[in-house]
Amino acid sequence: MQPRDLSDHVAYKAGRGIEEVARELGRDPSEFVKLASNENPHGPSPAAAVAIREHASSTSSYPKAAHADLVAAIADRWAVEDEQIWLANGGDGAIDYLHRATIEPGDAVLVPTPGFAYYGMSSRFHHGEVREYPLERTNDFEQTADRVLDSYDGERIVWITSPHNPTGTTMSVDEIERVAVETDDETLVVVDEAYGEFADLDSAVSLLQGRGTDDGRDDVAVLRTFSKAYGLAGIRLGYAIVPEEWGDAYARVNTPFAASELACRAGLAALQDDEHVERTVRTARNSREYLRDRIDADVWPSEGNFVLVDVGEATPVAEALQDRGVIVRDCSSFGLPGCLRITCGTEAETERAVEALNAVLAGRD
Ligand code: PMP
Repeated sequence: MQPRDLSDHVAYKAGRGIEEVARELGRDPSEFVKLASNENPHGPSPAAAVAIREHASSTSSYPKAAHADLVAAIADRWAVEDEQIWLANGGDGAIDYLHRATIEPGDAVLVPTPGFAYYGMSSRFHHGEVREYPLERTNDFEQTADRVLDSYDGERIVWITSPHNPTGTTMSVDEIERVAVETDDETLVVVDEAYGEFADLDSAVSLLQGRGTDDGRDDVAVLRTFSKAYGLAGIRLGYAIVPEEWGDAYARVNTPFAASELACRAGLAALQDDEHVERTVRTARNSREYLRDRIDADVWPSEGNFVLVDVGEATPVAEALQDRGVIVRDCSSFGLPGCLRITCGTEAETERAVEALNAVLAGRD
């Protein structure tokens, strides 16, 4: 017996950690800074860390079934009903749930390219076919309804990433609504707002706010995560906000104990720690401005906690940067040869990245 042939799946990983890279190069981990996975340079919310410690001795019990307090807090924040919140094992888990809930074998999904690899992988796990709509370098990866609709051909799900990873571009709520209006009734438009906190942009959740009326759309879902602005990537907590009309569909698709008790306690504490999120967002905005101003190469404007840089030949530059102790993401795996994605760091990390990159670029000429 052999497992399914998923040979064209390249495992999506959050990149190698500092320890792994240091071991491989025979160097000390303290020599490195990692700006490769859009993690939070300030770490988790201190309140979340306390919540995790406080619950540590109770982890022999299964999680509370419904995580009602966290669900209610999230629903309250977005002015939607509790049933609209689908907690999951990270945003990735929410992507799986949305596919599980909608894809019949042979259905297709439409994903942006370049784009986040897991949409396609997850849809294939669920026997879906993957089709792509292009974001064009010549248009600075601008996202409009027309660009999506030009490629649309009745797919079951249309994935929109706003802010988009790895380009940092966004799509306005009006444009997203136009995609929803102009696609079939049986098409779900999913807006992945994993980086939403960093953007100067309204959330597409407004399209889902019905609260007992029939005002909310029944063909849009929004994805959010605790991995980025909340600094809880390691805890694995994310959620989808789904149409009110979907009722109790979550109960039919979720994995038993969809999120761990530790994750939910940390998430609830983090959700209430606005100060940590504000500090994180401030740092990211300062860092991305600095990166854009100071790097001696083309840097696209970004609404995320990262920037995309055109360095011509990404792999040797990424390796040279790693030798200098700065780990960044080579974007070849996103379908963007020649580009690096650099995560926004603290002031010191950002300065170090700019200095190292400029030195590498200067040495190459
Ligand atoms: N969506 C996008 C666009 C992402 O970049 C990521 C992670 N980098 C995710 C979703 C999933 O994040 P997580 O599973 O950590 O919540």
